[in-house]
Amino acid sequence: MKIIILSKKYGNCRSINLGIWSGALLSVCLACLIGVPVAAYVTYLKLVSDSKNHLLEPEIRQVWAERLQEQEILIEQARQQAESKLAALTLRVAELQTRLVRIDALGERLTTMAKLDNGEFDFSQPPALGGPEQEISGDSFSPPDFSHAIEELAQQIENRQHQLETLEALLANRKLENDVFIAGRPITKGWMSSRYGRRTDPFTGRIAWHSGVDFAGKEGSDIIAVAAGVVVWSGERSGYGHMVEINHGKGFSTRYAHNKENLVKVGDVVKKGQIIARMGTSGRSTGHHVHFEVYKNGRAVDPSSYIHRASR
Ligand SMILES: [Zn+2]
Repeated sequence: MKIIILSKKYGNCRSINLGIWSGALLSVCLACLIGVPVAAYVTYLKLVSDSKNHLLEPEIRQVWAERLQEQEILIEQARQQAESKLAALTLRVAELQTRLVRIDALGERLTTMAKLDNGEFDFSQPPALGGPEQEISGDSFSPPDFSHAIEELAQQIENRQHQLETLEALLANRKLENDVFIAGRPITKGWMSSRYGRRTDPFTGRIAWHSGVDFAGKEGSDIIAVAAGVVVWSGERSGYGHMVEINHGKGFSTRYAHNKENLVKVGDVVKKGQIIARMGTSGRSTGHHVHFEVYKNGRAVDPSSYIHRASR
């Protein structure tokens, strides 16, 4: 092997003769010098290419696509659920509105029936949201409007409830006043046998004061309360025989005497018209009758005006 070396500086050339082994060694060295970087570069390129391909491998892409699809299905399901819930709530609101309209109508009727002053109740005020015929569409309700509508409806129902409770209390008071209003006879069958005032005493034959009104009838016939009240006496009393006394409040009380049998006891609350005793002739009595007395502020008064006045 012969190597020729050219020198620029001197413009001449030199040649070196190498032996077979020296030439082979030089060749190997040159090959190494060029081959190793090239191989390294090729390996680098391959690695880069591999890593890129790794990300975009078809199986991986498939997995991601499936996951994305699953997410989309879940979102769609959630949206559908939300829509159906909204539709259900819309129906509920419509139902509540219908009930409110009915409550309003009922309130108005009761107000009219009770002959309450106009303006005391404002049932005629229409609900602010309109009737149940309102078009129901999921799209027409955006969440803030919807919750506002429910809030308003709840408020209206609460107001109406309060008004109806007040109305009920008023009517109950009025009913109670009617019930404790003394009117009518203490019997259902029978006849008046003696008036209130001066009369000849059936036992002594002398003029005496009769503090009540007598109603005669068959033995055991019903004796009824002329007004609601509380029983304050039920038992024997001198001259009265078996007697029931009822306190009606406001200074009024009534007595029912000469009974065969009392059907109520002290502390009982009795209704107007309730049967409280059976007619008899117990005590200072000459025949089956009820001696009926009305007391006003502790003094016996003539019952006839109470008996004949009409019930309220
Ligand atoms: Zn009498």
